[in-house]
Amino acid sequence: MIEVKNLTKRYGEITAVDGISFTVDTGEVLGFLGPNGAGKSTTMNIITGYISSTSGTVTVDGSEILSEPKKTKQKIGYLPEIPPLYTDMTVRKYLEFMFDLKRVKLPKKEHIDEIMRLVSLDKHGKRLIKNLSKGFRQRVGFAQALLGNPPVIILDEPTVGLDPKQIIEIRKLIKSLGKKHTVIFSSHVLSEISATCDRVIIISDGKIVADAKADELYSVLSGEQKLTLTAEGGSTEIISEIQKIPGVQQVKKTGAETYSVEYQKGADVRRDVFSAMVRVGASILEMKSGDESLEEIYLRLTEQAKGGKE
Ligand code: ADP
Ligand code: MG
Repeated sequence: MIEVKNLTKRYGEITAVDGISFTVDTGEVLGFLGPNGAGKSTTMNIITGYISSTSGTVTVDGSEILSEPKKTKQKIGYLPEIPPLYTDMTVRKYLEFMFDLKRVKLPKKEHIDEIMRLVSLDKHGKRLIKNLSKGFRQRVGFAQALLGNPPVIILDEPTVGLDPKQIIEIRKLIKSLGKKHTVIFSSHVLSEISATCDRVIIISDGKIVADAKADELYSVLSGEQKLTLTAEGGSTEIISEIQKIPGVQQVKKTGAETYSVEYQKGADVRRDVFSAMVRVGASILEMKSGDESLEEIYLRLTEQAKGGKE
């Protein structure tokens, strides 16, 4: 559905986006994760045709943004980091205005009614945007992105500045959008992304540092599989017995009774470690997978991007 190829954006000396390539399938909800300054907004602004790239191409459903900007833009609903709201308008007037601006060819009243219901704005059509809370304004931004039922929805940090209850509502909304639309949304918060999307791209310093299915993120990112074992018994026997297990690459003693066991991806050696301990007469006090949390891996992958603020 979306194909991004070798995208680069330079601002003088600064390379904001540095040769990014990825594709997004129809119906996929893709999370774009990275610290502040990583290049998320720049990438989204290029995909949606708001700014041009220094080099590289973006194709949406077969049309190229540079050669067919109008046709391509019509396929995308965009909620930028700072939504372009006219705060002196009422919610309904603003949506009618945007409907006309986008030249949507659907029955106006019905379509706007339907979208307002979807984002729970149906009782707020007559309110002035300037009197709305941040959460409600964000819903107006959402509604604007949905006008014309574009197949692709792009949302730049849609939950920033919202309270936990509003965040949960927006997450639900994103999930429900995923049933009918292809969605890309960005965040600098890992838990945000892993709770909502099918696939995650992690970007740091303008480059993609990981691209994985959400439920495979941990095993993909941790690369080598690792197990931390605490066991009581003779350490020479413990080490030599674990080393015999197929798939085990390395066993290290890391403390008085703790060992770190590295093994090949895909192998699950926990049961074999258990029987090995029984054979040497050692007692397992604790056994846990990995030694780095997902959050720690994310920080490690993106730590080059210093200067970025939380
Ligand atoms: P993110 O959305 O991930 O926080 P951005 O895409 O906004 O990151 O920014 C990526 C990098 O490009 C940052 O270093 C930022 O300072 C720089 N940048 C973005 N827009 C401009 C601009 N108009 N002029 C100069 N530098 C910019
Ligand atoms: Mg941004």
